[in-house]
Amino acid sequence: MKQSVEQLVRPEILAIGAYHVADATGLIKLDAMENPYRLPAELNAELAATLAEVAINRYPDPSGGGVKEALRAAYAIPDAAEVLLGNGSDELITLITQALARPGAKLMALEPSFVMYRMNALLSGLEYVGVPLTADFAIDLPATLAAIDAHRPAVLFIAYPNNPTGNRYPRETVEALIEAAPGLVVVDEAYQAFADDSFMSDAGRRDNLLVMRTLSKIGLAGIRLGYAATSPAWARELDKVRPPYNVNVLTQAVARFALEHRAVFDEQAAILRAERARLAEALAARPGFTVFPSEANFVTVRVPDAPALFAGLKAAGILIKNLHGAHPLLSHCLRFTVGSPAENDAVLAALAQLS
Ligand SMILES: *Cc1c(COP(=O)(O)O)cnc(C)c1O
Repeated sequence: MKQSVEQLVRPEILAIGAYHVADATGLIKLDAMENPYRLPAELNAELAATLAEVAINRYPDPSGGGVKEALRAAYAIPDAAEVLLGNGSDELITLITQALARPGAKLMALEPSFVMYRMNALLSGLEYVGVPLTADFAIDLPATLAAIDAHRPAVLFIAYPNNPTGNRYPRETVEALIEAAPGLVVVDEAYQAFADDSFMSDAGRRDNLLVMRTLSKIGLAGIRLGYAATSPAWARELDKVRPPYNVNVLTQAVARFALEHRAVFDEQAAILRAERARLAEALAARPGFTVFPSEANFVTVRVPDAPALFAGLKAAGILIKNLHGAHPLLSHCLRFTVGSPAENDAVLAALAQLS
């Protein structure tokens, strides 16, 4: 007799829902930290010509086709570190958890944070340990050190700055955690382009540190390219878990092109930083709104009634992220991705009607 899907699939998979992506058709899309800007038309034409030359009949260069070297040069990755590429940093998280899933191994993350840490613990079969942040989203250092001591996690994930709260923790606090952790510490710098500090210069110099970044938030979410810089010992093992052709030829070509034209992306990030300040200030001026400090390309806000305001904005043609219900500390919080000046104006005009 055949077995049913339910009999065959792992119970922990049966118990969860799939990652939900909201339908944004016809809406101003400010829910997923995308960069609102495309490339200028002349660069787009140049990119099209470059892509036409790519040998799509061949498998990609398994070592990245020059992308690692371009990343090293663009982002001052230390010579002491090895670079690993992923199909988005989401895939790098998966590689890390797959490599570490010994029986009984634990993955620790601060909460609330990026949901894929917990998801990958579950998918790879690591025990998940969440350590709550304080009410204002700071690291509770004594409690976190105690949890590290009690659980001895194989890996600790720290988003720097944090998603979905936007704040960057004090550097010394993260350094204390890297010192104390017995296992690997992943400093996830997905929002580095919008932040005032980085651990990249430590990559390869601290044995238990892996610095992870992505091109997604700076304007290339569609190509799916994440990168990690870490010690040769960690890179060697993680590379065994990586599917050999995980970064496709088109992604490699676009990434090389983008890094050659890095100034365009830096200019866009500078505009978004300035817009972040303008948006945060205007949101803070609204009655009952508490704006949390952000070093990312989004602003998280506590409002009197998050579900109602989320629905009102959606009815007005604007899609943001409702964080209410995602974690107790996120009660009545909304996350606004920083858009173009016109998109941010639309948000502020809609809020003036609604609240
Ligand atoms: C968006 C995000 C990622 C995922 O980035 P991809 O490279 O697009 O997979 C990783 N970490 C954090 C904290 C993020 O917010």
